[in-house]
Amino acid sequence: LLSAAPLLETRDLAKSFRGLRALRNHAISVREREIVGIIGPNGSGKSTLFNLVTGFLKPTAGAVYLRGQAVTNLPPAQVNRLGIARTFQGTRLFAQLSVLENVLAAAQLRHPSSLPGVLLGLPAARAARQAAENTARELLALTGLEHQANLRAASLPYGDGRRLEIARAMATRPALLMLDEPAAGLNAGETQALAQLIGSLRDRYSVAVIVIEHDMDLVMNLCERVQVLAQGQVIGEGTPAEVQASVRVREAYLGS
Ligand code: ADP
Ligand code: MG
Repeated sequence: LLSAAPLLETRDLAKSFRGLRALRNHAISVREREIVGIIGPNGSGKSTLFNLVTGFLKPTAGAVYLRGQAVTNLPPAQVNRLGIARTFQGTRLFAQLSVLENVLAAAQLRHPSSLPGVLLGLPAARAARQAAENTARELLALTGLEHQANLRAASLPYGDGRRLEIARAMATRPALLMLDEPAAGLNAGETQALAQLIGSLRDRYSVAVIVIEHDMDLVMNLCERVQVLAQGQVIGEGTPAEVQASVRVREAYLGS
C-alpha cells in the first residue's frame, strides 16, 4: 500500500526579492489535523512562506503540494477552493459589511448560489444559501461573535475583529488553516481564549492549523510541532520542548 500523502508539503521552496533571499530550501510536512507553529525573528521569512503556500506570491524555486497535488503557482482563490485558508498579519475585513455578512461572503465561496437562481427561488440555490448561512452562524457562535452578528465589522473591538477573521477563513471550510500572528495585539485573557478557539476549531472541523506566533506560551501550549526560521532558513524543528531546548534555536532566536 502507498502511504497517504501529507496534507501539506513544501519542497526546496525559495523566494528572492531582487537580491534578498527571503526564504530558501524550505521544507515542511504537515499532517491532517496537526497544529504546527512557525516561529522566528522579524524578517525571517514566515509571512513569505504563507504567501507562497497560499498563492499570494510565486516562488523563485521549489514546490507546494496539497495532499500530493502540486498547487505551486495557482492563484489564491483556487488554492482556497482546494482547501487552504489564511489570515493576514494585519486585520483585513469588509469594514462596511456586518459581522454576519463578512462570514457569509466567505461561506458562499464554498456554497455558491447563482443570483438568478436565488431570484427565481430555485431549490438548489435556496439550499446553497441556507448551507452558507448555517455555516456562518455556527462559526459566529464558536468564535463568540453571535451577539455582534448585525454590527458593522468596522465597529468591532480589535480582539473581536481578529476572531472574525478566523471565522471568515473557516467559513471556506479549509483542510488547512494558516494564521499569521493571530495573537498580536491581544491581551493575556484574549490570547488564552484564542488558544482554546484554535483547539476547538481543530476538534470540530478536523482542520490542520499552521500558526505564526511570537507568544511563546501560546506556541508551547497549542502546537504539537514547531519549526524555527532565521534569515529565511529552517534552523530547527521538533516538539515545543525540543525546540526550546535547542542550543541553535536559543542562540538565534530565544536570546539565551
Ligand atoms: P517575517 O514574516 O518572518 O517577519 P517576511 O516573510 O515578511 O518576514 O519577510 C522576509 C524578508 O523578505 C524581509 O527582509 C522582508 O523585508 C522581505 N520581504 C517580504 N515581502 C517582500 C516583498 N513583497 N517585497 C520585497 N521584500 C519583501
Ligand atoms: Mg510576518
